[in-house]
Amino acid sequence: MMNRQPLVVGNWKNGLGVADSVRLAQSLVGELAGGVRSEIVVAPSLLSLVAVVEALGDSSIAVGAQTIGTNDVCTGEVSAEAVADAGVTYVIIGHSERRMMAAEDDDDVAAKVVEATRNDLIPIICVGETKSERKANRTKAVLRRQLKQVLAKMKSDSALVIAYEPVWAIGAKKPASVKIIREAHEAIRGMLGRSARIIYGGSINQESAPLIAAEPSVDGFLVGRASLDAAAFHAIIQAYERV
Ligand code: PEP
Repeated sequence: MMNRQPLVVGNWKNGLGVADSVRLAQSLVGELAGGVRSEIVVAPSLLSLVAVVEALGDSSIAVGAQTIGTNDVCTGEVSAEAVADAGVTYVIIGHSERRMMAAEDDDDVAAKVVEATRNDLIPIICVGETKSERKANRTKAVLRRQLKQVLAKMKSDSALVIAYEPVWAIGAKKPASVKIIREAHEAIRGMLGRSARIIYGGSINQESAPLIAAEPSVDGFLVGRASLDAAAFHAIIQAYERV
């Protein structure tokens, strides 16, 4: 991991209302009161961003959005400017669910990355192959394609975060193997500078976290389901206290 600070991000998806999001944020502040060496980010739904920023107060936990709009005049979108103005510092871009269910393509992802950085939001760019792409031995080609436009548009990689999330490992019973993660992370690292962080996402839980945290090519985690429980998320964060 060289001297990159580990980054652990909780993707709360969109199942929690405002009151539950605030409660989860407050529990997490309690869990992490002793301080940790990792940078911690939680990404509630757009609806709860403002309340969670407020609930986290001056704790060291940062807030991320799960997406941003790129068209300020499109009804229903929330602009990067408005998100940043609410005290949010990160944004997840190109999650596979948005690529598949909201039809976001590589152009959309690149446009959102530009919009995010223009508004001082740090993008967490999700990449990863489907099961059939892996079976066809196309993983590295897919990662290259997904990152090509994004990297062409970035001035510097200093604040860049890439989340390797193999689509087949999201919402699954177990994460990808360390070998698979290492191969993908090393391929991604070959396209980036040394300071960008490459985190892993896909069915991380407190049992699997220590083994993956010990892998030097992994700079942190993007956690879905297990981030909805403050104690379980804290246990995952603890994996980086022992590395
Ligand atoms: C995700 O949705 O980004 C994710 C990694 O989910 P899970 O941890 O539940 O697989």
